[in-house]
Amino acid sequence: MLVGLDDTDSREGMCTTYLCARIIAALEDSAAIEGLPRLVRLNPNIPYKTRGNGALAFAVHGDPDVVWETVTDMIAASRMPGPDTNPGAILLDAPSPPPVLEAFYRRALHEEVGIDEAKELALHLGARLFFCGNGRGIIGALAAVGARITSPTYELIAYRELGSIGTPRYVDALSVSDMDAALYPSVFDSYDARNGYVAIAPRSPCPVLYGIRGTSREAVCSAAAMVRSEPVSFSQVFETNQATDAHIEDADTAGLRRYRSVRLRGRVSDAPHDVHHGHVFFSLSDGVGSVICAAYEPTKEFRAVVRALAVGDDLTVWGGVMETPFGLTLNLEKLEIHTLASLVRPVVPKCCGTSMQSIGFSQGYRCRRCGAKVPWDAVPKVAVERGVHPGRYEVPVIARRHLARPLALMPCP
Ligand code: ATP
Repeated sequence: MLVGLDDTDSREGMCTTYLCARIIAALEDSAAIEGLPRLVRLNPNIPYKTRGNGALAFAVHGDPDVVWETVTDMIAASRMPGPDTNPGAILLDAPSPPPVLEAFYRRALHEEVGIDEAKELALHLGARLFFCGNGRGIIGALAAVGARITSPTYELIAYRELGSIGTPRYVDALSVSDMDAALYPSVFDSYDARNGYVAIAPRSPCPVLYGIRGTSREAVCSAAAMVRSEPVSFSQVFETNQATDAHIEDADTAGLRRYRSVRLRGRVSDAPHDVHHGHVFFSLSDGVGSVICAAYEPTKEFRAVVRALAVGDDLTVWGGVMETPFGLTLNLEKLEIHTLASLVRPVVPKCCGTSMQSIGFSQGYRCRRCGAKVPWDAVPKVAVERGVHPGRYEVPVIARRHLARPLALMPCP
């Protein structure tokens, strides 16, 4: 049978991965867990998420009544107070998810899904259903069970000892940097050297000490052995859809909708410009329409690439579509420059021993002394050094989304 759960945590504490791992430990004597539990990331753009919009699922063999009682009792006992915590769980007595649930997973990745339709689907499937509050967690619980992950990645999550939860974490940054240097890219998104950021340790008061992501179970286990930290209470490896780009769909500008994440190709149609707080915006047109693309301040050095773009550059961009006062805006996760527009600047001609004067933009030059003119077409020009090259660029680890595939794991273009 398949169990899914979600939305048991809040910004004040708890973590659904922790609860899932505790449930699995509690079932050890009464049931048999099949394979690894799954940590499934859903639509990163919806507003309801606490942090990374993760939901959990596992496959288990045993007495459904015992399993269900353990799951629901433990969720009820650990529920965090507050309107933003709306736990949900389902139990589906089937060896594998039906196609309709897989389709539901895809929708939960790409769109905003309603609570009522999730509850109806659970009832239609004959699943057992448990929820508190408005039951929003049912959406994630169903989607996690339905997820088909063709090329999964893995995350080892180490949890803190009970007495340490809520106190400052100790994870030795140098050991994380050494581990990253030794195992990248089979272990990824661990350390951002340029920004001095240890990405494996969360900043919230949750029970997680660190989470190490990698392309195999062996890689994340080797990495954990290299990290120096405060004592680990226990750890659990999850199979995940992280770093798979599962949230990305190919689209053109006519197909953009709020909360979708897309890949689209076009040409820069409005040059990049900075606005307050260091955010950088430009427009991209694809012959159908255009969209504003944004590299916000947290994307750090990625903005230097964006600032170097010019009108006419041919790009593919990846990102999440959000509604802003300026219209639909694509929050960039990565981009590929196919070709750069060739930019030239004029070499100001000289006459009568001095530089000639511009007559106007692209109009040519006139000599201040003798009045001689050089038309624009006859003005010598030199190519402008662009300061950026064709190729792929991504936001740094400090700004990376859970689902975004790092370039190091993508095949060469
Ligand atoms: P954490 O990463 O710490 O586990 P979180 O970011 O996963 O937290 P949740 O507390 O799980 O946040 O809250 C996300 C809520 O949004 C859940 O109730 C989940 O069911 C719901 N949800 C997930 N995907 C969608 C979607 N596509 N449409 C509507 N609701 C969704």
